[in-house]
Amino acid sequence: MPGARRRMRGEPEVMVHPSDAERAEVSEGDPVELSNRLAAVRLDTPASRRGDFTAILREVRWELDAMGHAKVRIFVSGGLTEASIRDLNRYADAYGVGTAVSNAPVIDFSLDVVEVEGAPRAKRGKLTGRKHLWRCPKCGNRGIAPAAARLGNCPACGERVRDLLHPLLRAGRRAGPYPSAREVRDHARREIAAAPDPFAETP
Ligand SMILES: [Zn+2]
Repeated sequence: MPGARRRMRGEPEVMVHPSDAERAEVSEGDPVELSNRLAAVRLDTPASRRGDFTAILREVRWELDAMGHAKVRIFVSGGLTEASIRDLNRYADAYGVGTAVSNAPVIDFSLDVVEVEGAPRAKRGKLTGRKHLWRCPKCGNRGIAPAAARLGNCPACGERVRDLLHPLLRAGRRAGPYPSAREVRDHARREIAAAPDPFAETP
């Protein structure tokens, strides 16, 4: 699957690889695709797929060089940190960094289509279909399971896990009564008391 090519205003040209590209398939692209005006290849890969990212970059560099495109640079983005840049420096020429330089702890997430009209459908690297999002009330362990699966006991401590997802609206109408302000406050207090210290050193 050749990457979609995006022409910036005027020049240069940058070839963008889709984020689900497991392998950078530069070598399989139409040779015409890699014109002499191509300035860079951009790889945007979520942090969850970072395992062999250095190997992917090495492969892209290799193929570009082998095709006589030594001047084409490699631009990398997606969940980068100071540490990962150190590893990628050998092959990458430029970086797009967002989350790591924001000034507060962040919850990094993305939204993906995983089901269409009840049929599981997702891009490569994503788990298809609706899911349970569960949490163990005893040890705080969390996880996901297919919506069709029955939730059981926590694999860590054996306590029965709870489903965290509850419908609030059905066909545009409230699915049930909302909790009272007191219930919300009591719940928040319990959760805060049980939460880990946000200032603790992360391992
Ligand atoms: Zn547990």
